[in-house]
Amino acid sequence: MGSIDMIRPGMLENVLGALDLGAVVLDNARRVVLWNRWMALRSGCTEVEVLGRDFFAVFPELHGKRLDRAVLQALRDNFPAVLSQTLHKAPLPLFADHEARLGGLRIQQAVAVTPLDVEGGRRHCLIQVSDVSAAVQRERLLREQALELRSQTFSDGLTGIANRRHFDQAIEKEQRRAKRSGVPLSMLMIDIDFFKAYNDHYGHQQGDDTLIRVAAALAGRLKRPPDLIARYGGEEFAVILPDMDSAGATGIAETMRKCVAQLAIPHAGAQGAAQVTISIGVATQAPSNPLEVAELIGAADRALYEAKRGGRNRVAVDQAWGQVRRT
Ligand code: GH3
Ligand code: MG
Ligand code: MG
Repeated sequence: MGSIDMIRPGMLENVLGALDLGAVVLDNARRVVLWNRWMALRSGCTEVEVLGRDFFAVFPELHGKRLDRAVLQALRDNFPAVLSQTLHKAPLPLFADHEARLGGLRIQQAVAVTPLDVEGGRRHCLIQVSDVSAAVQRERLLREQALELRSQTFSDGLTGIANRRHFDQAIEKEQRRAKRSGVPLSMLMIDIDFFKAYNDHYGHQQGDDTLIRVAAALAGRLKRPPDLIARYGGEEFAVILPDMDSAGATGIAETMRKCVAQLAIPHAGAQGAAQVTISIGVATQAPSNPLEVAELIGAADRALYEAKRGGRNRVAVDQAWGQVRRT
């Protein structure tokens, strides 16, 4: 077995110079006693310029800041500290290159301050700075992608409004909220009239365009943030109206019906009206009569069926079990 070479003082300097990390050592009076090459390159201050100087005179902007307190705690109380990345993105004026310096674009930093017991002397501290710009950038990208994916999984690809999955979650949530707060909850079930005939006459592509226009018109009638319109299935839409009673919901349904009729989209295949129209079923859960979600949806479906049966292009209301009133 051969003997190994122990690290000698000269080698240590090579190691410090090669570190992909800023290393600064301050003595008890906060004077710089070590300044590695990484720091020199990114701060624009050479070792010769800073050695022996007060660290906070080299970076006056740090006076009274978190790093100032961290150094004090390390030297006085022997406490290590890590500066939170979210609060302190770039505490030191360090730059990747000349261009970044001109643009004022600092390196994103993770900074750790560690007390050092120096043999025979008073306590020193080590400041380590690492460049986390790439990690921060990657994180931002991932967050943006996650948001984008989330919005895709909750919106309908054709019309851009909420999809069925979104509706299913929202109705459960709103129903629990309504029960808890003792407020009413209404919903609308909407279906385009004679849409199969529309496709047959104008083609599926134009059918899609009409679906998009109708969805946009319906969405435009909702003014309160908690209201939600979703594409429930093919050419059916469902609307959630939290904290709204039957009369309020019927009023909105009526404006939606009129609004679609006023789009005046020609529909040669429709029986009766020569335009695209919708039928709407309204159901309300009264605070005194909490329902299961499926019962509420069932009631809206039943009312929609009544609206169809009554001649279409109309609103029908299911107020409670079994009783359906037509407007
Ligand atoms: P009703 O008045 O009774 O509702 O008659 P309807 O013909 O509209 O009957 P129904 O609601 O059962 O028909 C749904 C039709 O909607 C069937 C299909 O041709 C059409 N449809 C469903 N989804 C889409 C879609 O994504 N794009 C297009 N273009 N048409 C669709
Ligand atoms: Mg349908
Ligand atoms: Mg239909």
